[in-house]
Amino acid sequence: MRATNDRRVAIVGGGLGGLAAGVRLRLAGYNVTIFESNERVGGRANLIERGGFRFDTGPSLLNYPWVFEELFAAAGRNFRDYVRLLPVDPSITFRWEDGARFQLSSDARRFLNECERLEPGSSPAALAFLRDADAKFRVAFDKLICRNEDSPARWLGALTLGELRRTAIWRSFDRELGRFFRSRHLREALGSYAMYLGGSPYQLPGVFTILPYGEMAHGLWLPEGGVYALVEGVERLARELGIEIRTGRRVARIRTEGGRVAGVELEGGESFASGVVVSNVDLPTTDTELVESDEGFKARSRRRAARTKMTPGVVTFYWGVRGQVEGLGHHTIFLPENYRAAFDDLLRRGRVPRDLPFYVSAPSQTDPGLAPPGDTAVFVLAPTPTLGRMPGADWRAEADAIRTKIFATFARQGVALDRSRVVFEEVYTPEDWRRRFGLYDGSAFGAAHTLGQVGPFRRKNFSAEIEGLYYVGASTTPGTGMPMVVLSGKLVAERIVSHAEGRARDAGSRAGAARAASRVGAVNAEAREDLRRAASPVGGAGRSVGRVR
Ligand SMILES: Cc1cc2nc3c(=O)[nH]c(=O)nc-3n(C[C@H](O)[C@H](O)[C@H](O)COP(=O)(O)OP(=O)(O)OC[C@H]3O[C@@H](n4cnc5c(N)ncnc54)[C@H](O)[C@@H]3O)c2cc1C
Repeated sequence: MRATNDRRVAIVGGGLGGLAAGVRLRLAGYNVTIFESNERVGGRANLIERGGFRFDTGPSLLNYPWVFEELFAAAGRNFRDYVRLLPVDPSITFRWEDGARFQLSSDARRFLNECERLEPGSSPAALAFLRDADAKFRVAFDKLICRNEDSPARWLGALTLGELRRTAIWRSFDRELGRFFRSRHLREALGSYAMYLGGSPYQLPGVFTILPYGEMAHGLWLPEGGVYALVEGVERLARELGIEIRTGRRVARIRTEGGRVAGVELEGGESFASGVVVSNVDLPTTDTELVESDEGFKARSRRRAARTKMTPGVVTFYWGVRGQVEGLGHHTIFLPENYRAAFDDLLRRGRVPRDLPFYVSAPSQTDPGLAPPGDTAVFVLAPTPTLGRMPGADWRAEADAIRTKIFATFARQGVALDRSRVVFEEVYTPEDWRRRFGLYDGSAFGAAHTLGQVGPFRRKNFSAEIEGLYYVGASTTPGTGMPMVVLSGKLVAERIVSHAEGRARDAGSRAGAARAASRVGAVNAEAREDLRRAASPVGGAGRSVGRVR
């Protein structure tokens, strides 16, 4: 029975991490069943369809398509047969109140021109920045991100001294940018990625220059049909491989017996036995709410979760807009006048930034099929503190205040979009993100990527306390973002396979030991027989003993 269940895997949650883990485990010969509480898979990368508009709930752009290409190639399939990618280039426009603008592009010449425009004479330094970030990127992906490594010494020990120096982990992200750029605008634009990592550019390590660089080097893409078309592609692959996906099935608890997982119990009472459970539900939520355990485990999990630094929450708006919005590209980030104060409000003071940074995505500018003919699908994201940092907040009122600020910014900066043109609106607050997808404390992107929460310092993808319990997704290794959680699926599958091999080796050596022990037993029995015979007056040995005697 145990042997059968060891090949059965229950995956709790059909986010991209859960789907990717499922594919990898199926390819390794496991029988995989995914239980998803919502009516469709995708998790944060979900879908709202209304009145001819198609909105992606979370991710609005795809980076590092090679991660998806590898996933499909592992299954002998071609990613491009499942998903068609549309390039978004120039990808992101940054805008400031003082009228400054900066465009990110995969075209290096264009990038250098943009740098030159904002900081005359900066193009040689901008080129040096690209070269440096490229070297960092290679080191990070080749040696740090794409492997399971639990020992900090071995993790960093994989780097040469030069590579270690290159990572700039002792310098802040902003200071690292300052080695190349003096322009406040360039530093703010390239450093603004820190927000999604759960820190400020003044705290997070310099290695994160790989983020803006990665977007330039690998491009930003919109799957045709929206990001949800990517989820549908991965779901199709999973089903073709024989993975069972059960949607609308909430897991009430992860069952344990004697310190190891026994399967899952669904809401309504149905049980599913399995020797391996992979939870794609946000890791701190899994430990504090789903795992059946004693009080000790629960208390330790609550303490660990409270200690984990999480990324901010978000308020997101989905607007169906009548007509075209002139001057608004696919993706625009509005940065505040007082940039540092916005990070302080968000991360230290625990309040919605007064001077609000936010971004606007209009994917129908790239794929007109996402809106009725001539209309525009608009998605807006504004960062907020997590739920615990604003206890008792009225999140509907907060969302109203944020909306007012956004329209005021549009009016000041000449974006031709006012409220009267919005014919459809849906709003998700951090409470909605928590309730719909189980996001711990309403944090949008999972555990933060501070120095103490990356690599072997991040929560590992297996439980040290409950055998057979594994984690996949944004709050475990390697981290947040669609490509990262797909890599997380690969890493957790490798972990499960290597643990199973370790157990088989142990069992092999136990069997060997048993065989050896029984050989020893046989030898001892022969020796005892010899002694018995020696002591016996009628035995051969006895004869010899007799002879001696
Ligand atoms: C607003 C927003 C914008 C983003 N923008 C981008 C972007 O542009 N590019 C990018 O790459 N990334 C972006 N991200 C990050 C990216 O969406 C996430 O890192 C990634 O999708 C997380 O995937 P995951 O595998 O961790 O699982 P999740 O998406 O968290 O999925 C977990 C699944 O578990 C299910 N579940 C929860 N509880 C239960 C239960 N009890 N039983 C069964 N099922 C359960 C949930 O319904 C969900 O489907 C964005 C995220 C957000 C929120």
